[in-house]
Amino acid sequence: MHRRVAVYPGSFDPLTNGHLDIIRRGVEVFDLLIVAIAENSRKSSMFTVEERLEIIREVLVDQPRVEVDAFEGLTVEYAVKRGAVAILRGLRAVLDFEYELQMANMNRKIDPSVETLFMMTSEKYFFVSSQNVKEVSQFGGDISELVPPQVMARLAAKNGLSPRA
Ligand code: ADP
Repeated sequence: MHRRVAVYPGSFDPLTNGHLDIIRRGVEVFDLLIVAIAENSRKSSMFTVEERLEIIREVLVDQPRVEVDAFEGLTVEYAVKRGAVAILRGLRAVLDFEYELQMANMNRKIDPSVETLFMMTSEKYFFVSSQNVKEVSQFGGDISELVPPQVMARLAAKNGLSPRA
């Protein structure tokens, strides 16, 4: 049988429960979901690509239909190379919409064979972003409901804080 593959690209710096929610729901729709870390030298990151790969693999170890990878260059080209029919993206707020619409249209122009699909965030996570998780954790705030425990521990280590229970 033909496998339906999708690529879920992003920075994942770091992985949040908002990302995880999209991943868990995404695997229900596709046979294989490739979580793909976009290597972007222009964006400064807290975690290296290797660290991010390791974290996501650890968290998703119980998901046989999820693969974790990293790529450089154009997302559509990576998607085609991996035999994907779709690029999956999450939408939180109106703020995401304009940027995502531009990207989706640009990607369709580059290669119309790959469809961009959007999944709405769960109301529990609409306010969660990697950026605000990093900020809150830097000041010792409680992020236990926003990220998986593996990410909490690593953020605490980066910030030189002991992780909160
Ligand atoms: P990028 O730098 O490409 O925006 P991110 O890691 O910030 O990468 O996000 C990857 C994808 O996950 C994007 O489509 C983003 O909109 C989505 N996303 C991020 N946080 C959430 C959330 N809390 N709920 C739903 N989707 C989310």
